Amino acid sequence: MQPPHASKERLCLYPAEIWLAQRLGLGATQSVDRPCLKRQLFGMVNRMLSDTGQNAPPFDPKPIARKFAKVQDIRVEALNCDGMLIPVNDGFIIKINRHQSRRRRRAVCAHELGHTFFYDLDRRPPQRGYLDTASPHWVEEGYCYEIAREMLMPESHVRTIITSRDSSKSILWFLKHLVQKFDCSPELVVKRIQDLDLWDAIIVIFQANDSDEGPYFVVKKYHSNPFKCGAFHSVRTIKMGTAIDETSILHNILLDTYVADKETVHREKVRLGQMEQVFLVESMPLKRSSSILSVFSANQQ
Ligand SMILES: [Zn+2]
Repeated sequence: MQPPHASKERLCLYPAEIWLAQRLGLGATQSVDRPCLKRQLFGMVNRMLSDTGQNAPPFDPKPIARKFAKVQDIRVEALNCDGMLIPVNDGFIIKINRHQSRRRRRAVCAHELGHTFFYDLDRRPPQRGYLDTASPHWVEEGYCYEIAREMLMPESHVRTIITSRDSSKSILWFLKHLVQKFDCSPELVVKRIQDLDLWDAIIVIFQANDSDEGPYFVVKKYHSNPFKCGAFHSVRTIKMGTAIDETSILHNILLDTYVADKETVHREKVRLGQMEQVFLVESMPLKRSSSILSVFSANQQ
């Protein structure tokens, strides 16, 4: 199914995308639309994986960095940001914040590698292939996140695992399975589940906070949290930053998970913003970030 704005996509490629289309050898940009550009781009990422001998998960961005992106060195050090890409004479240096988890560092490396796609690698030092003041910052950023997700969790590999799924396993089981298999953080896996619309579900990450009256929960400000997938894609649901009513069923479910510090499963009528319906709610604590990840699905799928 085409998104409603598909017909407009052909008309509004940003300078960053026009450069990308040229770099991918797509020729006359008038004939390139965004879905076509992304197909070619992700095809290139997959060729890079197989050309570095990577045919099964987990996938590693480092061999690609060296072989295709002229990355001279990858340094893990103290930074005041997640990571950075520094052009040097013969290519690039990638710096990654050492305070990140190992899985998060893999994602940052793949993201910074994504930025190299926007550079002209034939110049010394490499230079951006387009006038970056002419294109909104988020255009290139968005592509870098998408490149990173395709590199670490290629669509074809994820779909193969999902279609061979054992129907007795729950969405949360699969989410954890993908975390292990692809060696990615739960947060990145959730975003990928949303990208690929793998299930009919809403996945929410709640920040747990302690107060004198006990714990309370807030929808975490993180990417497009809540992550709406499949049949729930267009629903109006709870918003980022919303504090959960402490008299609600949802609060009790989250409290149960938080206090027990283990996974819980409930089937309850739950209010999520303007929606209220019976959901199967599978929740698990994300200990590193003092958060709870909850999968809301209509049925055991
Ligand atoms: Zn970036």
